[in-house]
Amino acid sequence: MKMPFVDLAGQYQRIEKSVRARIDAVLAHGKYIMGPEVAELEAELAAFCGARFAVSCSSGTDALLLPLMAWGIGPGDAVFVPPFSFFATAEVVSLLGATPVFVDVDPVTFCMDAEQLAKAIRAVQQNDPAIHPLPSLPEGQMLRPRAVIPVDLFGIPASYEQILPLAEEHGLFVLEDAAQSFGASADGRRACGLGCSASATSFFPSKPLGCYGDGGAVFTDDPELDQVLRSLRIHGKGRDKYDNVRVGLNGRMDTVQAAVLLAKLAIFEDELAERQRVADTYTRQLAGLSGVVIPSVPVSRNSAWAQYSLLCDDRDGLVAALNSAGIPTAIYYSTTLPQLKVYESLRYRAEDFPVAQGLTSRIVSLPMHPYLDDESVTEVCDTIISFLS
Ligand SMILES: *Cc1c(COP(=O)(O)O)cnc(C)c1O
Repeated sequence: MKMPFVDLAGQYQRIEKSVRARIDAVLAHGKYIMGPEVAELEAELAAFCGARFAVSCSSGTDALLLPLMAWGIGPGDAVFVPPFSFFATAEVVSLLGATPVFVDVDPVTFCMDAEQLAKAIRAVQQNDPAIHPLPSLPEGQMLRPRAVIPVDLFGIPASYEQILPLAEEHGLFVLEDAAQSFGASADGRRACGLGCSASATSFFPSKPLGCYGDGGAVFTDDPELDQVLRSLRIHGKGRDKYDNVRVGLNGRMDTVQAAVLLAKLAIFEDELAERQRVADTYTRQLAGLSGVVIPSVPVSRNSAWAQYSLLCDDRDGLVAALNSAGIPTAIYYSTTLPQLKVYESLRYRAEDFPVAQGLTSRIVSLPMHPYLDDESVTEVCDTIISFLS
């Protein structure tokens, strides 16, 4: 296919000089682990999103795992997660021996539905699956609500204005999964700076801000959590990594990746504006078409446009039409998390999360990146329009 889904080569053409200069500097000083670029990046990331502390780490998955470890999440704990996300959101919960309690998503934003969350909390507290679907557990086991991980799906921040007060009321930690939303905003504040207990983002190459390998970061305003996160990412270090005070990870970000991110952060604001241009161009041409539903971003929020995703009843027909015109597409996600084989033992039913389940057969994502020109967007839209007519 001639049109790329994400154009990292086009981006590299633009930033080749600065990326090479940044990497050359690392090769010259040779501090490949925790070199000076790591602290420089952390300061810039924190300033960018308005969080007090930024702790870089080895991936978005580790960025989700680290705060849960710091809070001591484990067996017997319920962690509320949406059923419509990448597996990592629930995987980190299971890895720690805690139980994911899935909460259906909002049909407009595809992010966690706060009213369903309120019900799910009550269902766990009263151990009553009549209030909200609950996982099947060994006889006699009960769960304690401990944390919620809302996901800013496709780049749109979840409804924290509803979720944060609810979490406060029930003493839950809120961990924002901002893997797809770095650069987004809500009520004038940036994702990862929205007042959650902690936020996690990913710098996987295809995310809005990506490095040239794996990388991630955790954000918080809590100085104690910041210190524990810094310990956990280096083998639970105390004074140094040979003074181990807790069980941690080898979860550092490579200096080379921090160097790449510093070069990319310099053009990130401009790239976000370009993503918005692409989204606006799609929306202008597709609005009002019968047969597809276009993304709808609540007025008080801005998307980072990790994806521009449509809903279409004949999704598979649309994908075939686009692909045969040389236009790549992606399906995020074709299965809800509770229906994955790994969660068979929790015995959730497909009908438990009707909104998420309905999305899996209708969702399709179109090419989206800052270097997509208006002619290419028009080509995609024309192909969709002729398919629908
Ligand atoms: C990409 C992604 C992750 C995981 O990030 P990695 O850097 O690949 O580990 C977690 N959650 C969501 C919603 C993601 O899209």
